[in-house]
Amino acid sequence: MLAIEILENLARFPHCILLTRVGQFYESYFDQAAEVAQLLTIKLTSRKWDKQEVLMAGFPIMHLDRHLKTLIQVHKRPVAMCEEFRREDQPDKFNRRVVRILTPGTLIDESFVNQYQDNYLLAINLPLDSRDADDLLGLAWIDVSTGEFFSQKSSLNHLEDDVARIAPREIVLPSYFEPNSSHPVVIASRQEGCPISFATINAFPSDQIPTAAPASDDVLYSTETPGYSQEETAAVRLLMSFLRTNLLEHMTDVTVPARHKVENRMEIDAHTIRALEIRENMREGGSSGSLTNVLKRTITSSGTRLFSRWLTSPSTSIPEIIARQDLVSLFLSRPHFRRDLRQLFREVADASRIVQKFLLGRGDSDDLLHVNKIISSWSMIGDRIASERDADLQHSQDGKHSDWENMDRLLARMTRMEALAESIDSAVDDPELRRKEALSMGADDPLLDGEENQETPFTNTGLGRPPYGQRWRIKPTYSQSLQELHARLTSLMYNKERMQSLLQRKYGAPSLTLRASPSLGLHVHLSKMKRDRTKLTSSTVFIPLHQSNTTQSFVYLQRWTQLGTAINQVTSEILAAEKLAFESLRGEVIILAAELRKNARVVDELDVTCAFAELAAEMKLVRPIMTTEPVFNVENGRHPTVELSLLSSGRNFTPNTTLLTESSRLHIITGPNMAGKSTLLRQTALIAILAQTGSFVPADFARIGIVDKVFSRVGARDDLFRNRSTFMVEMLETADILTRATASSLVIMDEVGRGTTVKDGLAIAFATAHHLYSINKSRALFATHFHELADMFGYSDECRKTGAFKDMDFYCSDIDETDDDYFSYSHRVRPGVNRDSHGIRVARLGGMPPSAIQTATSVLEYLRGTPDYWHAGPTKLQQLGIDLARANPPSITNAE
Ligand code: ADP
Repeated sequence: MLAIEILENLARFPHCILLTRVGQFYESYFDQAAEVAQLLTIKLTSRKWDKQEVLMAGFPIMHLDRHLKTLIQVHKRPVAMCEEFRREDQPDKFNRRVVRILTPGTLIDESFVNQYQDNYLLAINLPLDSRDADDLLGLAWIDVSTGEFFSQKSSLNHLEDDVARIAPREIVLPSYFEPNSSHPVVIASRQEGCPISFATINAFPSDQIPTAAPASDDVLYSTETPGYSQEETAAVRLLMSFLRTNLLEHMTDVTVPARHKVENRMEIDAHTIRALEIRENMREGGSSGSLTNVLKRTITSSGTRLFSRWLTSPSTSIPEIIARQDLVSLFLSRPHFRRDLRQLFREVADASRIVQKFLLGRGDSDDLLHVNKIISSWSMIGDRIASERDADLQHSQDGKHSDWENMDRLLARMTRMEALAESIDSAVDDPELRRKEALSMGADDPLLDGEENQETPFTNTGLGRPPYGQRWRIKPTYSQSLQELHARLTSLMYNKERMQSLLQRKYGAPSLTLRASPSLGLHVHLSKMKRDRTKLTSSTVFIPLHQSNTTQSFVYLQRWTQLGTAINQVTSEILAAEKLAFESLRGEVIILAAELRKNARVVDELDVTCAFAELAAEMKLVRPIMTTEPVFNVENGRHPTVELSLLSSGRNFTPNTTLLTESSRLHIITGPNMAGKSTLLRQTALIAILAQTGSFVPADFARIGIVDKVFSRVGARDDLFRNRSTFMVEMLETADILTRATASSLVIMDEVGRGTTVKDGLAIAFATAHHLYSINKSRALFATHFHELADMFGYSDECRKTGAFKDMDFYCSDIDETDDDYFSYSHRVRPGVNRDSHGIRVARLGGMPPSAIQTATSVLEYLRGTPDYWHAGPTKLQQLGIDLARANPPSITNAE
């Protein structure tokens, strides 16, 4: 029977690893067993079915999460979970069915889900024949574990950036793309390196999403958004179809996605998210050392997720940024208040996750208690804020209401949940609370006073108690009927005790107990058989049932069977009543799901802004002044992650000032390697991003004009995955920037043109800077080794501010010479051009062999002595080669 079921399931879910529950094990059979054994490094065995040997591999249920993590997150394999259910008509038999398919993007509450990161499943929907860059598409993404759900309209040419921002764990595309691996949507989807699944939209009436969209993800400054576009609706339906085929019995009703605001969000393109190491560091790909990781001061898991969303999607709305900054200022100027709140945040569990568990048909009475604790933490947070506010307004003469305006506005979005808390409180038994109350009143610890027996499995065979060693979850006082049932149970249990002591006395058997067990049913048990059985065996009312070396059991038909049956009956009635009560409470939570989530989001926003204040205090950040003018005036700016990493090794960061204005909108930056050009470029982009996130920034002063898009072409990244050369990647990214950057954008470019010949490189560098300056008109920092570029743009000490490129400026980094012909880096950037890249000195510092250094010095001297060598032609260069070989014979060894 089991074999047939398994074969059927394997045929039904051919793309999945099938795990079938058999008692206390999950097992895999047939050919798949060999694969499972290999993937999980567990033993491959076999068993006989209908005289046939079949392969089998299995593991105990307690190892389930560990093995699921390996299959899903390491090997990216979907897993079909086939569970077993006891049959009501034949309790010794089981039904089995696949209840859910787990994929990387459909995890619910598995222990290996990282609660501090979003676990998004992203559906991308567009017609098969859409191929042009401007063709529209719909995006819908959900974190099944928290229920956070968004949609957005986009286009093919923005897709890669959107995917990089969302950072999904799994992408779903319409199935017609499966055989079309070269379609642009498939190529863009692959860039994040997450698994791609394919699905067909199935029509379900409940999948109709409303035409009016709810507010966006932002609570403090949420604005009305128009209805969903056709593209978004189609993406939501694709997402739903995929969820329905995978969540199966855990599928919930469709919630409504919040629309991701595109209009007032800063665009950060995919390369920039990677190059600025916002989420991951470029070297190892992990999150350590990334901006998110280094600047994270949030306490709650959901606050951390919001912080990371804000960092990849900063705002372009000045009122919104100011609203966030106001909260940061409020917290920054009140260290005690901040400390108290952060302490309270530690107590707040992840409400979205718990609500989602209920919506997905999971969750238990402990989760209800968690909901209660969350509500009480929210009230404590509200109370603490109110007390600070009151004290503040009382003490300040001028009644600084304005400080609290945005806080009031945020808190006004919270819904009071006391009624739900009361419902749960009056219904669900909280042994921990009872214990605390008892101890505070000087009573004995109820958990030590016999109640722990309730928790112990198999104690007294569960008679008159919930099965599997559990405890009663709902308070008897919850309802009249439950109270009556418990009263009946107490009296029946009292009768049982009486009957037991009567029998012990009457039959001279102190070890006699009245019991029930799944295998023996209701029976009388003697634990000291030899000593106590004489009278019992001579009586006709006790029928011997079972015997071991020291114990014996009997059936005591007349009375114990009657009483025991009554006890079992009442027990089942209590269980049924508890289930009803639980379902009614679950219903109450579900009705309030949206409000619970919104409250949670308010607290997340408090956590993030409080974390910004913490960071500002710790790193001496300053509140940036935001403006619509195209300026970027940062005095003594610092790179936040480089600064922290230098500090950790006892070194100081050298701050630098950057002043980009309308009349100085592009800076050409020259200077030697390692002198800090690239750091300055990155810190400029990071400061813009941090400022528009609402955070304060690492500088002494900052006045920043809103940036609509940040672009970067920095560092050389081998792109083996896409099989493109480094130079090709550089050109693709540069082309993308020149096409998309606007006059409100901020562009940083490092060493464009270095991956080719000097002439080509210079030509490309000039053309790029020229385009940025005259067509894009963006604010830009352009670092280069081609000091000739400065001349081409008309640099000279006297007349820098006239001519065709008058709105361009020139800065450089340098080295500090030391007496012993060595040097150090000051990392200070000053106006001017540095024509010496000090390449050979850096090479010597890098440990290049002395002979090679000597040769390089000779080449450089020759080239400097013959300025027109560009035109000298091959003959002259050939001669140079011969001379150099003569001057540097092979006898000069590296050992010298
Ligand atoms: P470049 O782009 O000029 O080659 P980088 O910006 O990559 O130089 O800087 C090289 C190293 O110098 C960095 O990794 C950092 O450790 C250090 N550095 C850069 N800028 C500064 C600074 N302003 N203050 C202190 N150290 C710095």
